[in-house]
Amino acid sequence: MEMNNTREAKEQAGSRSMRAADRLGNAFHLEYIQCPICQQDQAKELGLRGGKYQRLKLGIETTVVRCCGCGLLYPNPFPFPEDPQHLYSKPEKYFEHHSISEKITSGKELLEQIRIKTGRNCPNVLDVGSGRGELLKAAKDSGLARAVGLEFSPAMIEYAGGTWGIDVRLQSIEEHADGNAGAYDAVVLNAVLEHVYRPDLMIGAAARLLRRDGLLYIDCPNEPNLLTMAYALLARVRRSHAVLNLAPTFPPFHVFGFNPRSLTVLLAKNGLNVERISLRGGPLSFRPVGFVDTVKASVANRINAIANITGTAHNMTVWARLVRDPQADNRHLVGTQTTTTDEGWNLQSLDDNG
Ligand SMILES: [Zn+2]
Repeated sequence: MEMNNTREAKEQAGSRSMRAADRLGNAFHLEYIQCPICQQDQAKELGLRGGKYQRLKLGIETTVVRCCGCGLLYPNPFPFPEDPQHLYSKPEKYFEHHSISEKITSGKELLEQIRIKTGRNCPNVLDVGSGRGELLKAAKDSGLARAVGLEFSPAMIEYAGGTWGIDVRLQSIEEHADGNAGAYDAVVLNAVLEHVYRPDLMIGAAARLLRRDGLLYIDCPNEPNLLTMAYALLARVRRSHAVLNLAPTFPPFHVFGFNPRSLTVLLAKNGLNVERISLRGGPLSFRPVGFVDTVKASVANRINAIANITGTAHNMTVWARLVRDPQADNRHLVGTQTTTTDEGWNLQSLDDNG
């Protein structure tokens, strides 16, 4: 596989601006980026995704790479949508495979765990990217937590406010952190970290929002996993460069692919100590189109069952606790891209686990 060097690619591209649109008219501008976690220039090319390399020909063609430093997956050049709001404009459409009542039930279970782990009777919880607001609804009904939601899609906020009368704010986590440092016992990033364009800034803001010993809960895909590895192997046999990693320019718009190693490095940089990582994959939620797709879905779910036994599943949940005060000694790291001193960080122990 080819290496992808951001500096060299940038030099070759020069000042030429790169732009592409998918067949639905969604436009993206493409830009070479460094790994946002470790600022590495070197990455390994895994393959192609989107456009003719997507089963329904959705999105635009992108090259998926894996950072040689921390193992993070991302497209490079990186496709930034010209109208991000448009991509998430229909809540019902975006979440059509997710049942509301199931999400409220699992929200209550999560709040119960947060109560136990924080040792607070009614913890202050921030739900970032609250979507239709099921976790906030669960908090309101059960009285298990005082919860605030942040959401960037006006359509989602309208849905949550109109349906349940809950408080969701049109604010980024970075904006919210400015006036609310140390205000929360727990921050929840449920299916959000893989969607954002600056996950480093998001984790920095989450650390600032937490009180000392506060908890961060993350639920995101684990990439690569057994399913994406099996797919890549099969593609190579068929002399195709297609990969199944990420979905940078089509639903569900996963732009970064984390794994236990890359996520642990990012959390440690922000004073967050990982207490537990669980790898687990439920049945796949994509809707098969035709017989071949149905067979593929069935095979995929069998691979999933093996992945759950072998620790290579496609989903990851992480509990991390704030052990350092991000206001004090991490200021030079939080929210900046340039300083990456390992001084004082216990990265050795991460290497043993990764
Ligand atoms: Zn990296």
